[in-house]
Amino acid sequence: MPRKRTKDKVELANKVRSGWEILKDRLGEVESYNREYIEFLTRVKTEREAVAYCRECARRDKGLILIENRGKMIAVCRKGSVPLTNGVRIIAAHIDSPRLDLKANPLYEDVDFAMLKTHYYGGIKKYQWLARPLALHGVLVKEDGSIVSVVIGEDANDPCFTIEDLLPHLAANAQYSKKLSDAFQAEKLNIIIGSRPDLEVKDNKVKEHVLRLLHETYGIVEQDFVSADLEIVPAGPAREVGIDRSMVGSYGQDDRVCSWAAFAAVRDLKHAVHTSIALLVDKEEIGSEGNTGAKSRFIEEILWELAGRFKEEIIPSRVLFRSKAISGDANGGLDPDYPEVHEKSNAARVGYGVCITKFTGARGKVGASEANAEYMAAMRSYLNRNSIPWQTGELGKVDEGGGGTVAKYLAEYGMDVVDMGPALLSMHSPFELSSKVDTFSTYLAYRTFLEEV
Ligand code: MN
Ligand code: MN
Repeated sequence: MPRKRTKDKVELANKVRSGWEILKDRLGEVESYNREYIEFLTRVKTEREAVAYCRECARRDKGLILIENRGKMIAVCRKGSVPLTNGVRIIAAHIDSPRLDLKANPLYEDVDFAMLKTHYYGGIKKYQWLARPLALHGVLVKEDGSIVSVVIGEDANDPCFTIEDLLPHLAANAQYSKKLSDAFQAEKLNIIIGSRPDLEVKDNKVKEHVLRLLHETYGIVEQDFVSADLEIVPAGPAREVGIDRSMVGSYGQDDRVCSWAAFAAVRDLKHAVHTSIALLVDKEEIGSEGNTGAKSRFIEEILWELAGRFKEEIIPSRVLFRSKAISGDANGGLDPDYPEVHEKSNAARVGYGVCITKFTGARGKVGASEANAEYMAAMRSYLNRNSIPWQTGELGKVDEGGGGTVAKYLAEYGMDVVDMGPALLSMHSPFELSSKVDTFSTYLAYRTFLEEV
């Protein structure tokens, strides 16, 4: 919403302007940024793949310092011109997305199908995962510690997997007459992985055939599923959407839209006063728990590591208290089919630039991280100064629902932090929708924050 300033006239009302209007002379940059982003979305569907992709992209840049946590969390850092004791600049975003994980003992046979049992991860609408092509991504770690990486279902020549759905002719009692939350059950989200029997064996012929193929192709046995991180995700590439190609459609844009922008911002940074950190975290979708989530205190380890490399004496908690951060996360955009869940004057709109969310939480800001007025002023000041499309947005009407981000785990250290990211439609679905001007505005907002705030 950068304000137009003329010499003799102050614009009194806060007028929101379309990102397309503000960026009309930068459409070439919008396109090239989104080409890179679409490639990232197509290649990366898990947290491990995101870490590996960033590692590969950063390989040739000697100025980038990469600090990893178990291959599922990464900090991409660039040294500033002032010491760490002056504080650092952090953009945090998450690289995990809602999906179906395989159970520890997933493989079974029923009515001549080999099936895999799943346990969903994060907030999904279960019906969206039925009757569509699915891919399997992840790792199995064998007893000797060797790692077998798998990606099955992405290449056009690969087979894919699916979860079947009931035909409408027979769905009257099992689905239609039930509440949506009861009609689709987690224990029915079973993946069909095969149907051809091994004619040489006596029992479980289809399952045995699948096991034989898995052993021949990947050298794995059934018990290897116990020590595995295997994720079922929607198969296929990210796409341009609309006859005007104005949007990006893909699985996993919450929150790869912000994690890619954070990575690209630190990568492209020319000069920054403070040390910049793109902090890409795992486990946000399940509450940031665990040793690779935002609650793991990995940020302290990052500072110890940087201090060692820069040969500085620091106390990490003091550095963090003096730091400033953006919590980069996707917001729910004003929905053209369900406008009633939003309060229109405080809903983020797709195509209107990066969205700043002053506070999150639900039912009276409970569980929120709230940015103070001074920090909000600093944000709108640099965004306006640089003509970066921005807007404010709250996630839904008061008491309609709500959600949290990693902001509060950064705020625990006493640093300034605010939520900032683009608005999506169909958030948490297998095909989330973003606007190309919003993804680019997010990148501009992050990069300029690192340079100027
Ligand atoms: Mn998110
Ligand atoms: Mn989410």
